[in-house]
Amino acid sequence: MSILSDFHLHSYFSGDCTIPMEEMTDAAIRRGLHSMCFTEHNDFDFPKTADMPENPFLLNVDSYLYELTMLRQKYDGRIKILFGIEIGLQPCCQKKNALLADSWDFDFIIGSSHLCNGADPYYPAFFEGKDPKECCLSYFRETLHNIRSFSDFDVYGHLDYIARYLPEDAAPYKSMDYKNILEEILKALIAKGKGIECNTSGLRKSLGAVNPAPEIIRLYKELGGEIITVGSDAHAPSDIAAGFDAAAQILTDCGFSYYATFEKRRPVFHKI
Ligand SMILES: [Zn+2]
Ligand SMILES: [Zn+2]
Repeated sequence: MSILSDFHLHSYFSGDCTIPMEEMTDAAIRRGLHSMCFTEHNDFDFPKTADMPENPFLLNVDSYLYELTMLRQKYDGRIKILFGIEIGLQPCCQKKNALLADSWDFDFIIGSSHLCNGADPYYPAFFEGKDPKECCLSYFRETLHNIRSFSDFDVYGHLDYIARYLPEDAAPYKSMDYKNILEEILKALIAKGKGIECNTSGLRKSLGAVNPAPEIIRLYKELGGEIITVGSDAHAPSDIAAGFDAAAQILTDCGFSYYATFEKRRPVFHKI
């Protein structure tokens, strides 16, 4: 395996994960990783859903940092543990998100669109009575708005997250159907010096592909993008670094010789 850092993973500090940080860390060491970055969820103004408590993704950063500091001492010399966060971006919560991002010395911030018009495409109701292609366009439009109006993040998470959840009877997702708006998104990211991630979680889902799609990763590179992190989005120890061989191949095929990790919000580049 040539990618030895997992820069997107969760523990029980995230509202949708029950695994202690220590179990995730032990698994990362078993996988032979040099470094790992916890990227715990914080999504302000998350809508009420049937299967989750009220405001499920409000992160207690003090408790999280305290445990991470203890872990760093325990695992010193065995694996580098970075202090990250995955912030849910929405037009309505930019001030709160900026305050959150600036209040702690995070090593790494993923900005993610989990919601579009205040709803999560994870739930089938999101698509009810709508044209799936229009839904994708709306999702990308809101992503573009987030990028143009907010800067407190390092990479944009799983850029075509919505593709994971398209209804089964929808036409197959083709990322280049959205090439125009994706070009605008990628150019806006590049102009701000922001990166993207190759998120391998979709390989474990029915989508069977990384997010964003390889054609989007290639487009980012062709437009001059250089910063790409790799993350499993693991919520379980067995998923840490899952799909990283495939990710290495995809990045190489897209013209990347290096992947990035982050420390104190600055990218560090590693040969693939
Ligand atoms: Zn996410
Ligand atoms: Zn995540």
